[in-house]
Amino acid sequence: MMKDIATPIRTQEIMAKHGLTVKKSLGQNFLIDPNILRKIVGKANLTKQSAAIEIGPGIGALTEHLAREAGKVLAFEIDQRLLPVLADTLSPYDNISIIHSDILKADVEKAIKEELAGYEDIVVVANLPYYVTTPIIMKLLLEKLPIRGLVVMLQKEVAERITAQPGTKAYGSLSIAIQYYTEAEMALTVPKTVFMPQPNVDSAVIRMIKRPEPQVKVINEDFFFQVTRGSFVQRRKTILNNLQTAMPNGKEKKELILKALEEAEIDPSRRGETLSIKEFGLLADKLYPYFA
Ligand code: SAM
Repeated sequence: MMKDIATPIRTQEIMAKHGLTVKKSLGQNFLIDPNILRKIVGKANLTKQSAAIEIGPGIGALTEHLAREAGKVLAFEIDQRLLPVLADTLSPYDNISIIHSDILKADVEKAIKEELAGYEDIVVVANLPYYVTTPIIMKLLLEKLPIRGLVVMLQKEVAERITAQPGTKAYGSLSIAIQYYTEAEMALTVPKTVFMPQPNVDSAVIRMIKRPEPQVKVINEDFFFQVTRGSFVQRRKTILNNLQTAMPNGKEKKELILKALEEAEIDPSRRGETLSIKEFGLLADKLYPYFA
C-alpha cells in the first residue's frame, strides 16, 4: 500500500515540492489524518460498483481514499494551482477525473453523464470549503442529480443545524430545506488537529441520504420554503407574528393567516421551531390559496 497523502510529513513535502501555500479565502484546510479519511469514506458505503463525486480535492488526501474504494472518482477543484499538484500526487490511480471548475458554476449533470456513465450508485463525498457549504449542498440537492446521497465534512455548527429536530435551538429553515429532500444524520465529530492549517471552528461529518420522494407533498415548493424561512425570521416570536411580517400584506391579512393556522390545526401562539416538517407542509398548503 502506498504512503498516504494525508500525513503531516507527506503533506508538507508535497507543498514544498510544488511551492504551494494555502489560500484561506478558498477554505483550504487539508486533512492530514488517514484514520479520519477511512472513517469518512466508510460512511459512504462505497463499492467498486459505486462512483464518488468530490468537491475540492485539494492535494488529493480524500481523493485517493475514494479512488481505492470506488470504481470511479469525479472531482471539481476551483484552484488552478492545484491541478499540477493533483496530477502528481494522484498519478498512481487511473480512475480519477478532475474538472477545473467552481462547483457552483459547473454543469454537474453533464459531467456525470460524460464521466460516470454506467454507474448507478453515485455518492458525493467531500471535505467542503467552509465559506460556501450551504450553497454547495443546496445546489446538489435542487438540481435533482442522480445521486444516492452526500457524506460531507463541514462546520459543526452548520452540521447541527442541518440535522436538528423540531423543538431544539438548532432547528430552523436550513434543517427543513435539507430534511425535505434527505434523511440527514450526524456521522462523526472531528477534532481540529486533523487539518493543516487548523480551522478556527469545530468540524463534523454528516450523512444525507436522498429520499425517493420529498418528506411532505406540497402544492408549491417555492411557497413552502417561503413560509418556512418566514417562520424563523425572529425566532422568539410566534408563528402568527412571523407570518404577518413574512407574508405579502401579512399585517392586513391577519385573519386569513389565523384561518390557515386553524385549518392546519396549529396554535397561532406556537413558535416556528416547534413545528414539524409535516406541519409546515400542511400550513403552507392552507396559506397558499390566500397568498398565491
Ligand atoms: N479534499 C481536500 C482535503 O480534505 O484535504 C481539501 C479540502 S479543503 C477544506 C476545500 C477544497 O475546496 C480546497 O481544495 C479548495 O480549493 C476547494 N474549493 C473551494 N471553493 C470551491 C468551489 N467553489 N468549487 C470547487 N472547489 C472549491
